[in-house]
Parts: sequence; C-alpha cells; structure tokens
Amino acid sequence: MAKITVDASLCTGCGLCVSLCPGAFEVGDDNIAKVIGADCGDQNVNDIASQCPVEAIKVG
Ligand code: SF4
Repeated sequence: MAKITVDASLCTGCGLCVSLCPGAFEVGDDNIAKVIGADCGDQNVNDIASQCPVEAIKVG
C-alpha cells in the first residue's frame, strides 16, 4: 500500500484533501493536515495529492 505523507511546512490547512478523502486526512487544531488512514474508496490517492494547491501531499 502506498505511504501517504503531508509536508507540514507546506500545508495551509485548506481542507481540500479532507473533503476529497475524509478516510485518509484530517486537519487538526494546528491547521495542518495529517494522515489518519489510507482509505479513499474508489479514488486514487495520487489524484488527490495532485489537487493539493501547495503540493504538500506525497505518495510513495
Ligand atoms: S489539500 Fe494540501 S494544503 Fe490543503 S489541507 Fe490538504 S495537505 Fe494541506
């Protein structure tokens, strides 16, 4: 399974990744997204990563 990470130094806390895939991302009180899982259903996590406006999501 692909390992998903969020670069906290880039993330703006916009919440887009959470709305796209709440099974894998959560924005905490610090306004930084963190990875809470890897379940994005039918969605390809690479597509979600590519939509992050600051390219903070890495899949590898
Ligand atoms: S889409 Fe990118 S910038 Fe927005 S909360 Fe998720 S990781 Fe952070």
